[in-house]
Amino acid sequence: MERADAVIAKTYKRFPVLLEKGSSSTLVDTDGRKYADFVAGIAVCNLGHAHPAVTRALTAQAQRLWHVSNLYYTRPQIDLAGWLVKNSFADRVFFCNSGAEANEAAIKLARKYYQERDQKQRFRIITMERSFHGRTMATLSATGQNKIKKGFDPVLEGFDFVPFDDVEALKSKIAEDTCAVMLEPVQGEGGVRCPAPGYLSAVREICDQNDVLLIFDEIQTGMGRTGKLFAYQNFDVEPDIMTLAKALANGLPIGAMLAKEQVADAFGPGAHATTFGGTPLVTAAALEVCKTLVDGKIIEQGRARAAYFRKKLHRLKERHSCIVDVRGIGLLLGIKVNFNAESMVVECMQRGFLINCIQEHILRFVPPLVITEEEIDALINCLDDLLRKEH
Ligand SMILES: *Cc1c(COP(=O)(O)O)cnc(C)c1O
Repeated sequence: MERADAVIAKTYKRFPVLLEKGSSSTLVDTDGRKYADFVAGIAVCNLGHAHPAVTRALTAQAQRLWHVSNLYYTRPQIDLAGWLVKNSFADRVFFCNSGAEANEAAIKLARKYYQERDQKQRFRIITMERSFHGRTMATLSATGQNKIKKGFDPVLEGFDFVPFDDVEALKSKIAEDTCAVMLEPVQGEGGVRCPAPGYLSAVREICDQNDVLLIFDEIQTGMGRTGKLFAYQNFDVEPDIMTLAKALANGLPIGAMLAKEQVADAFGPGAHATTFGGTPLVTAAALEVCKTLVDGKIIEQGRARAAYFRKKLHRLKERHSCIVDVRGIGLLLGIKVNFNAESMVVECMQRGFLINCIQEHILRFVPPLVITEEEIDALINCLDDLLRKEH
């Protein structure tokens, strides 16, 4: 850890733990201490660590072919794109390497779509306050949190912000120069915030009435996290463009931008590109992740665990007045407390649980979908104990 502090960029305040291996929802550090993982790489390892089928698919592909340029066809990329198209609203997929890159592609596509239609003046994108869309210049500009932008002025022009879950605010902001509305169907980083019933369908309607594209950032909510393959399926509202990343390859770097044919059409040869997007190695693993999530009934299982977890969190709230809210959907869950909860993360870690704190007051739980009821019970007992002693 001392060596890390000497040579690694200081962009993360790390916890004093050196993790060595993992299996399913358990992690082990170099001292052999075990942790129940309620972070999952922040909603990345939805199948848990070292999933045997994914490891098999990855190693088989590693012996065959890692990378060729996107100037050529490779089968794993075709199969993954086919699977995503078959299982979503979309007709076409662009592969890249991260969430930020997927959102960059979505932003570029939305602008290009209108420029192809000789509507150069339509370039502005409305996003939400407290949103999170990434750390590249365009995606931090799209993010509705000042702390992410601080020190990087001037940010990219062309983003407008409205409060999440506020139909009237969106109606009054949308204008002739708006090309798209971009939002997370459920806000993750911003505080595990679900929209009110009807909000997303109202957003869809406003977009349609104004000839504006709708982009869903499902980087955190996708791949079964919310109890359905994609969060939009919980709300019966389809976007024109959707971005994926985090859990798509269960921890290998990948991003994807999916779009309807008519929109995707604006990206012709040469319009956008990336060296590593959709390599055979990563897409072979991602395809196995997708199949396991759906055919292996892991999403279904996650839904049951989520119901159990939520019930336990509500009971915990009844016992502790410092918990002011239980929120979230599927296994994207949070509790809001009336004190700064950052120290709770360390205390839970010392007791063998990895959890996450956002916006100072919200403990976020995004475990692998294979988390067990025993692990949930153990975490609830730990939280119960800590809250009784200290808060
Ligand atoms: C994590 C996240 C991103 C950024 O993804 P990176 O892979 O870190 O670039 C973007 N949007 C949402 C909603 C996220 O949760």
